[in-house]
Amino acid sequence: MALLVQKYGGTSVANLERIQRVADRVAESRRRGNRLVVVVSAMSGVTDGLLRMAREIDREPREREMDLLLATGEQTTTALLAMALHARGVDAVALTGAQAGIVTDGTHTRARIANVTPSAVRAHLQAGRVVIVAGFQGQTMGGQITTLGRGGSDLTAIALAAVLRAARCEIYTDVDGVYTADPRTEPRARKIREISYDEMLELASTGAKVMQARSVEFAKKFGVVFEVRSSFHRTRGTMVKEEAKSMERVVVRGVSLEKNQAKVTLAGVADRPGVAANMFSGIARGGINVDMIVQNVSLPADGKRGKAQTDITFTVPRDELSKVKRYLEKFRQTGGARQILFQEGIAKVSVVGIGMRSHSGVAAQLFRALAKAGVNIQMISTSEIKITVVVDESAGPKAVRAAHREFRLGGRAQKR
Ligand code: ADP
Ligand code: ASP
Ligand code: MG
Repeated sequence: MALLVQKYGGTSVANLERIQRVADRVAESRRRGNRLVVVVSAMSGVTDGLLRMAREIDREPREREMDLLLATGEQTTTALLAMALHARGVDAVALTGAQAGIVTDGTHTRARIANVTPSAVRAHLQAGRVVIVAGFQGQTMGGQITTLGRGGSDLTAIALAAVLRAARCEIYTDVDGVYTADPRTEPRARKIREISYDEMLELASTGAKVMQARSVEFAKKFGVVFEVRSSFHRTRGTMVKEEAKSMERVVVRGVSLEKNQAKVTLAGVADRPGVAANMFSGIARGGINVDMIVQNVSLPADGKRGKAQTDITFTVPRDELSKVKRYLEKFRQTGGARQILFQEGIAKVSVVGIGMRSHSGVAAQLFRALAKAGVNIQMISTSEIKITVVVDESAGPKAVRAAHREFRLGGRAQKR
């Protein structure tokens, strides 16, 4: 009997009717003889609602209690789905992340999985039960409840598929696969039949929230092939797997958009060893995710060349800006920089493809397309398989569509 790990995301379990539909699917798969581990997310909007409530009570709630609160969302869904299966005469058991053996480090709200001890899951499977697991949560060795970062139910599913050596891992969501761009932004986006781990990872870490980036990293590390597919339709989805030679023929696989970013510029930073190390270590200690760092020679304010100084610009997620501001203000006051500028309302647009390794001129082509669309580029960064540009947030969707058109990624407008 094949062992399947299935994950149903928030929109797929958004209300009781949808939970019943998931139960129908699971029951049918069980009757066909499969053994099943089903990972579920919180009903859509629940995690956001819990976050809002917490922040209404305390602007910066303690992370331990935050995790305790957030973990309730997924628990609700597991219990309801198990009950829906019982009502269909299917033996099923609902487990918390801890009960399913998800052991994490102690980094509350973005914990890393340290190991998975699935003995309870195995025992329930052995006894013929469908095992429903609360996604997005785990427990430290010391028994503290943790969560795995937004979108973390994907990670729970991939980790369980890895340790249980599942025959298949299926991520059910509200789109029927991974598209060449977010179909909400670009209606002409096309479904990708198969994509390499590296491309999926780059897309996921630059805003394509269809998969949590860390879960893709985990899948790559442990060789978990998985399929992203729709919980509403029966159509085949997208296979995410090791790259094959044939995949390189496509230069650009997809385009992504990351909104809610902010830009920080420090002008007049002393140009000597250790200054950047000191500043970024301070920011890193605050757990802030810095990206796209650019350093440039700075001209002194009076235009005359004095002591060597540099300007440093980087991006951060907008909701981390207040933490960054607090830290950098101290840095400035102690003579670290002459002036600091903060700019909200920016977005990152990325084009991704392993074919870029063997094709040149992709960046120039992207810049030309953006220029033609009247989109101004504020920052640029490139890696072997990705080009990212920072643009005004309001120009983000237009930039995505321009890039999508330029690299001929589109097809007919898709129905979602
Ligand atoms: P779930 O709740 O099932 O985890 P998410 O909302 O986290 O679902 O992810 C699915 C959403 O990801 C889609 O509704 C879609 O708008 C968005 N998305 C962003 N980029 C892409 C892409 N390249 N392909 C498909 N969906 C994408
Ligand atoms: N409920 C969590 C979130 O909204 C985890 C998930 O859905 O994967 O981020
Ligand atoms: Mg998700």
